[in-house]
Amino acid sequence: MKPAGFDYAVPRTVPEALDALADTRQDVRVLAGGQSLILEMHLQRIRPDLVVDINRVAELDRLSVNDGTVEVGALVRHGVFESAQAAPGPLGTLLSLAVVNIAHPPIRARGTMVGSLAWAHPASEWCSIAAALDADIRLQGPQGAREVPARDWFRGPLKTARRPGELITSVRFPLLGEDTGVGFIEHRRTHFCFAQVAVAAALTIRDGVISEARIGLANCADRPVRARAAEHALVGAEVGSPGTGYRLPEGHPFVRAGRIAAEQDAAPLAEPYADLEYRRHAIAVLVGRTLRQAARGVPR
Ligand SMILES: Cc1cc2nc3c(=O)[nH]c(=O)nc-3n(C[C@H](O)[C@H](O)[C@H](O)COP(=O)(O)OP(=O)(O)OC[C@H]3O[C@@H](n4cnc5c(N)ncnc54)[C@H](O)[C@@H]3O)c2cc1C
Repeated sequence: MKPAGFDYAVPRTVPEALDALADTRQDVRVLAGGQSLILEMHLQRIRPDLVVDINRVAELDRLSVNDGTVEVGALVRHGVFESAQAAPGPLGTLLSLAVVNIAHPPIRARGTMVGSLAWAHPASEWCSIAAALDADIRLQGPQGAREVPARDWFRGPLKTARRPGELITSVRFPLLGEDTGVGFIEHRRTHFCFAQVAVAAALTIRDGVISEARIGLANCADRPVRARAAEHALVGAEVGSPGTGYRLPEGHPFVRAGRIAAEQDAAPLAEPYADLEYRRHAIAVLVGRTLRQAARGVPR
């Protein structure tokens, strides 16, 4: 199918973009990488009255490090994070582990991290990391500028706290300390499918004891999840040896955390290829393995 007719604005600055977004017609959309929007327009599931293309707003194509945070502008493409050096320290490693799971290179060359946060697909890799690290989503709109932490941002499948007329200008992640190890593991049915389950983890371990844990889950509920109950169970636990075999040793804190994440934090929905029992099992196993991957990355 072809998209229905729509008006098109091409601002060159943020104020021009905000002027265009102030249009009061029913469906006004920002166009960033277009990797979700254009597809939906072709299928006519979205029929915007006006598309505001921000691709010429140069100030949105910025990645900066300030005051212990990394700020990613609305035009920074997924592919930038294929280099672990795009962001300093373990945060850069985490983003680089996750990004290769997003679609394939042409989509990563065009799609943007902020576009993923705006789209808020429950299976999005970036959304799971934003949830784990409680990233701040920064917006400008008719009422001025504001920041929304990820815990308040995601409201359901493809639903966010964005208000009409608002432009997301950037997302800000906290940097992770050098004593933090990170992991990201995803299970998908075929290479071209979205994640059936994906887990992001960051672990800080001091003298063999976990002092901080952050776990984000993708496609384990109707929105990205921060697995707080599992995190809570990990803090203060002795890591011991998580082994090198296919299975983690029974009774290990990572196995326990996996079960807690699956039973208390996640609220998975059954899918044609994965019933609830399978999905909870996959979440428990993947959380355990991702924590082990993160623990291996902690400098000794
Ligand atoms: C074949 C295929 C496979 C894919 N696989 C994956 C995958 O495995 N994992 C994954 O996470 N994604 C996947 N995607 C989606 C892809 O990552 C998109 O790039 C992403 O969802 C949206 O980013 P975008 O920049 O392309 O946004 P767009 O498509 O331009 O916009 C998406 C939505 O967000 C809004 N929006 C975008 N930017 C802003 C902003 N700055 N302010 C306010 N609103 C904004 C738009 O108005 C629109 O409603 C896939 C896409 C395709 C086509």
